[in-house]
Amino acid sequence: MSAKTIGIIGGGQLGRMLAMAAARLNFRTVVLEPQEDCPAAQVANEQIVASYDDPSALAELARRCDVVTYEFENVPVSAAEELASQVTVYPPPKALEMAQDRLIEKQFINGCGIPTARFHAVDSQADLDKALIDFDGQGVLKTRRLGYDGKGQRVYRSATDSATDGYVALGNVPLILESFVSFEREVSIIAARSPDGTVACYDPAENIHINGILHTSTVPASISEQTANDAMEAAEKILTALGYVGVIGIEFFVLADGSLIANEMAPRVHNSGHWTEAACVISQFEQHIRAVAGLPLGNPLRHSDCVMTNLIGDDIEALPEWLRRDDTLVHLYGKTEARPGRKMGHVTQLLH
Ligand code: AMP
Repeated sequence: MSAKTIGIIGGGQLGRMLAMAAARLNFRTVVLEPQEDCPAAQVANEQIVASYDDPSALAELARRCDVVTYEFENVPVSAAEELASQVTVYPPPKALEMAQDRLIEKQFINGCGIPTARFHAVDSQADLDKALIDFDGQGVLKTRRLGYDGKGQRVYRSATDSATDGYVALGNVPLILESFVSFEREVSIIAARSPDGTVACYDPAENIHINGILHTSTVPASISEQTANDAMEAAEKILTALGYVGVIGIEFFVLADGSLIANEMAPRVHNSGHWTEAACVISQFEQHIRAVAGLPLGNPLRHSDCVMTNLIGDDIEALPEWLRRDDTLVHLYGKTEARPGRKMGHVTQLLH
């Protein structure tokens, strides 16, 4: 096998785990990240210390690498497109474009024939007032861009909730009001597509969020086979429509009748897929590396039931107890300082 070099834009824990998976398959990695000694650079071969849209740094990344991927979805589309004129970029920049803006994302997902919450674009307080009337005063107001882990959101539960300053409170930026979905549970699917169009899906995970941040992912999810198949079918439609290469994470709400409402997609490896490194032969990280490097996709079959728990902020203090367990894989991200809300690591407990 010829030695190849894979570029990774972004130096967080996802980049770290991608770099580790790449090394196991004899690939070298170069990380582009402005912060020195970031989680990914600690395990990669090289780091280019520069911002994600620095043209000369991107040209240098293209020069040093055979293929470039990214570990977060807010890489500027123009930078990704410019890079794609110099080197292969997977997933394709179009996936970034569809995932960066919640309005475009929902229109795209609907265009694939997959339902989402109803929505209205909100560009003023008047838009918000009108949209809330349409949704009987209930809805979730979100920034269209740059929201993550529940940041940049406001929930309206009833017509009596005051909407007066909603537009300004979220920063005077383009917003989207989504209808409030009374879901029974939240699931996500991690799926991969190779350059030849082969698609492989992991089993859906059932996710619990606390304060908008993923807390646990449990597999199998408590859903019917039909619902699981629907999630896989939806993933395949999205991947095919994007001409996608790599791993994607797609989150869904499950309604009482088992039907699915797509919430959002992330064109990268996903926190709710970390369980795959313990409960599958091929993890989502290796699967992504295989896809972008043009190797055959691995079998996504799950050999164990499991629950993945994020270690966030002070959760890291329970590390000694997790380490004593003989059924648990511990994965730490190389961050020295634990701050509230900061993901420090995760553990995956095999259930049998
Ligand atoms: P998001 O940033 O879109 O993933 O939203 C964070 C969390 O807020 C989701 O995981 C849900 O628990 C909740 N949420 C988001 N959108 C809606 C919605 N339209 N209806 C009900 N709950 C929502």
